[in-house]
Amino acid sequence: MKKWITSNYHYMVPEYDGKIEPNFDSFLADVQRGVKVLGGDKAAPVVIGPVTMVYLSKIKAFASGFLNGEKHKLLEMLLPVYKDLLKKVASLGVKEIQVHEAALVMRDETLLPLFKKAYPFILPEKNAFNVDINMVSFMEDIGEEHYKWLVTIDEVSIVSLDFTRGDTLGLIKKHGFPATKMLGAGLVDSRSVWCTDPNKVLPIIEEIKRHVKTARVNPSGSLQYLPWSLEGENDLENHTAGPVLSFAKEKIAEISLVAEAFHNPDVFSDLLNKWSEYIQFVRENSSVRSRLERITEADFCRSEPFEIRRGKQLPGCPILPTTTIGSFPQTKAIRQLRSKLRKGTITDHEYKDEIDKQIAYMIGIQEALGLDILVHGEPERTDMVEFFGQQLEGMLFSKNGWVQSFGSRCVRPPIIWADVHRPRPMTTREFKVAQALTEKPVKGMLTGPVTILNWSFPRADIPRKDQAMQLALCLRDEVADLESCGCTVIQVDEPALREAMPLRANEKKEYLDWAVDAFRLSTAIAKSETQIHTHMCYCEFDDCMDAIDKLDTDVNSIENARSDNATLFAFKRIGYTKDLGPGTYDIHSPVVPPVEFIVNKLSAFLECVEKEKLVVNPDCGLKTRAWPETIEGLKNMVEATSLVRARL
Ligand code: GLN
Ligand code: ZN
Repeated sequence: MKKWITSNYHYMVPEYDGKIEPNFDSFLADVQRGVKVLGGDKAAPVVIGPVTMVYLSKIKAFASGFLNGEKHKLLEMLLPVYKDLLKKVASLGVKEIQVHEAALVMRDETLLPLFKKAYPFILPEKNAFNVDINMVSFMEDIGEEHYKWLVTIDEVSIVSLDFTRGDTLGLIKKHGFPATKMLGAGLVDSRSVWCTDPNKVLPIIEEIKRHVKTARVNPSGSLQYLPWSLEGENDLENHTAGPVLSFAKEKIAEISLVAEAFHNPDVFSDLLNKWSEYIQFVRENSSVRSRLERITEADFCRSEPFEIRRGKQLPGCPILPTTTIGSFPQTKAIRQLRSKLRKGTITDHEYKDEIDKQIAYMIGIQEALGLDILVHGEPERTDMVEFFGQQLEGMLFSKNGWVQSFGSRCVRPPIIWADVHRPRPMTTREFKVAQALTEKPVKGMLTGPVTILNWSFPRADIPRKDQAMQLALCLRDEVADLESCGCTVIQVDEPALREAMPLRANEKKEYLDWAVDAFRLSTAIAKSETQIHTHMCYCEFDDCMDAIDKLDTDVNSIENARSDNATLFAFKRIGYTKDLGPGTYDIHSPVVPPVEFIVNKLSAFLECVEKEKLVVNPDCGLKTRAWPETIEGLKNMVEATSLVRARL
């Protein structure tokens, strides 16, 4: 599972194992059903483009006849399959097929030859089936090379581009847009909860009218990244920000409005009023602003370098310390407890009492297992971002604003609407409950500023960087408060550190610079004696190794169980000197990892990481697991660690 391009949506990485056995029966049946219900002129089936498919696939090393990475060979094998698929889809009576080539937005020079090879080979000859091929891209502009190529393919009659991110307009102005094609103008932002701002969209409409002969309007990408609808969200609708909020269903209504504005800009008058009324509300908090202005270089730096402070941390902790990533099983009992609190059938006091019993149980289990650095287990948290968001001022919450993260897993991202600040400590109560029950150190558990930002809907009126810094101040205060309660290890999770990273090299750097700064502003206040951990998962780390190094954490625990140590080698290559906790086993499976399996993992880790710097932990938090396998897995992890320690 990996994160889909610049989003928090995950996809299963297709793995090519040496065989291609196409079976499109159920897909074709779906298309047929769509045609029956909607009619052939309205049902536009979506096919993932072959280049994207190959680009995002993994070729198993043993696949016959392939050297790992030979993507063009896989593409060659797929092309006849695609040609056949498109022919079959076209024959079902549809008028348009959307070919989603998400990879068009990737800045990777190896892609253009693949595109050139794949198209027009797979496309039905023009008019042969009386079907329009709509090449769709989203998430960003597609860059000059891909644009210049795309607008020249005869067989493509519609080109759909994203006008909400990147510089698609610049490409059209510079290279023109063919009069023979229709432009699908992605003007309605499919990833923002704010409704279309006429002041921003009208100038783009004017330019499109100037340069493009035929255009239509569509969302900038799939609406799956937005909650379904504002209907029934009374608290949101009555909020100051309510009139300018817009979820998926409302965005659909905006599409026709924007299309109408091509002929008659006056249709925007209502929207213009809403925006100008909204703009008048003060969303600035003067104390947050002045605090940010007073920040100096020193606020981003720990008081001593890693080499010195490391020796002062966790005295008495054994070599290869064992720990977990934070959460323990979110059982039915815990979920019921939360639902009772929501319904008001238990008091806040009763709820906290029960949460404390859960914490006590989790501490007891960890003591019995013999783990070295304990956690309180996060029973009070629904979700690692919502939990913090709900305690911060400046965030809004929906009742039903779920968006898909993967499969049936959904998250309900908060909406940032004003300057963010922390009215009171957020995690110290649970930390104190846990620490009072054990002599072992309990890890304070926070979500980092970049992850909170990336897993929320940001406000549209100030840069994301500024929002990250505001969140960083909230976390900085929390780190200080945890320390003053006696906390000596604090983990600040940043699984989404690189999630919103732009695709263009120069913008990438700028993004990573402020993302790193926000993390450092959150954590640098920690005393040398306090060990700062971070945790990252579900992403490729290769393009942000230096940034990870610059976070200057004392320990970094990373997802690794399925990566054949590639990430560890990459850390070694850049000369990473801090401690590392590569995941010893995959927590997404209920399978209990045997002791020898973990012994082998640890032995392999020790080839890349010095023994004094290796921390032992699972791949991620255990909240989706059940207790029996959690206990068995951790028991084996502790046992494997003592076997390996004895050999050192
Ligand atoms: N501390 C969090 C947990 O254990 C981290 C989750 C994550 O990395 N996604 O659940
Ligand atoms: Zn994780």
